[in-house]
Amino acid sequence: MGGDPAGEGSFRGRVRRAVTLPPPAPGARPAAHAWRPARFLVIAAHPDDAEFGPAATAAAWIDGGSVGRLVCCTSGDQGGEDPDLDPLALAATREEEQRRAAAIVGYDEVVFLHQPDGALANELPLRELLVREIRRFRPDAVLTHDPEVLFYAGAGVNHADHRAAGIAAVDAVFPAARNPMAFPGLARAGLAPHRVRRVYLFWPNAPTAWVDVTATAERKVAALRCHASQVGDPDELGGRIRAWLAEEGEPIGATAAEAFRVIVIDDDPDEGPHEPAQE
Ligand SMILES: [Zn+2]
Repeated sequence: MGGDPAGEGSFRGRVRRAVTLPPPAPGARPAAHAWRPARFLVIAAHPDDAEFGPAATAAAWIDGGSVGRLVCCTSGDQGGEDPDLDPLALAATREEEQRRAAAIVGYDEVVFLHQPDGALANELPLRELLVREIRRFRPDAVLTHDPEVLFYAGAGVNHADHRAAGIAAVDAVFPAARNPMAFPGLARAGLAPHRVRRVYLFWPNAPTAWVDVTATAERKVAALRCHASQVGDPDELGGRIRAWLAEEGEPIGATAAEAFRVIVIDDDPDEGPHEPAQE
């Protein structure tokens, strides 16, 4: 094998041309985000994050012909109010709820990494697990928590597990997944380096892209209702989610949208301009 099998040059200290999609110009209405990955991987901290997160986008892309897969870093074993509850029993319940929700969205597989809920850490073992899943599935895009959000712009603190999952996913995407010398046991086991071209960060404070999910908003609501151990009154939930999607749809004039901060790592010459057209 040559000295530069991935065509990357040296990884050490290399600064790459990664761009964040710019926010829309003041006063301009952005168009709905139109790019669709052929394959995408959602990396979430807990069962239900992917449904509160990008479920309607995932459903819309899958309806459009994409293949999507979901990785849950934890099984949500601290997601209860009762200290006498058996954490393993709760984890089993939450995995089952997540599988049902994932079936509604249309993912091809759900992978549970069984990391400790409430104690997720961006350390090398987690990064290796994520690189393994990225190289196994070979997605064009990875969707994950915006790791830079400590406090939500509206209100509240972003859970430490969400921040840890987000930064671990970003570190797994770049450079580890594409670097043949990172976790060399993976390459020896047949999992070749893989370049993820884009990262979509959900629940951002500063979104740069809005996906029109008018056609799949009810799939998101139905998937969320599968998480019966976590969500309360289903009617209240549906109303809350529809109102949230409507609010996120306002910038693009859509009935419902999900907002992302998009990082383009590698442009493909065949995919056209990546910046959404301004009206
Ligand atoms: Zn969560």
